[in-house]
Amino acid sequence: MTVKPPQLNSVAEFFAQALAIETEASERYGLLADQMEVHNNREITAIFRKMANIEAKHRDEIRRRAGDALVEGRPASFTWLGPDGPEAIDLEAVHYLMTPYRALMLARYNEERAAKYFEAIAQATTDPEIAVFAAELARDEHEHVAWVDKWLEQYPAEDNAEEDPDPPVYSE
Ligand code: ZN
Repeated sequence: MTVKPPQLNSVAEFFAQALAIETEASERYGLLADQMEVHNNREITAIFRKMANIEAKHRDEIRRRAGDALVEGRPASFTWLGPDGPEAIDLEAVHYLMTPYRALMLARYNEERAAKYFEAIAQATTDPEIAVFAAELARDEHEHVAWVDKWLEQYPAEDNAEEDPDPPVYSE
């Protein structure tokens, strides 16, 4: 997976972009939790509610650290994508996707995207403050990938194995 870093010309633009990533993650986890509730899967519902809270804390921490700098940021966006294609996912419209396995794979894909995105920002920036904070966020997102991998151990891919030509790759 290659992730192109955004052109960030200021600390304010970094904070705007980081905020967009975390806001999207928090909202998407909320929707995934709703979907798992529809499936009566209490365990995964609880996991996604927890993830929504964790990403909301990231969002609030970014707001706190950005302070006044955030106001000057240009509008930024970050949309969750599906592992199967480049288009943005409309979670409310795509119920069939939301078996626990598929929901976890969707989360994993976007956690990894977020991690790589923050890494790309950390490497591309010339601002040391951005580099440190972006690397910190990248580490957190890598940790989330590892959590999802752990939960995936309980949900083997057999319920839709024939539709999944690109099985999960577990990082060490
Ligand atoms: Zn995350």
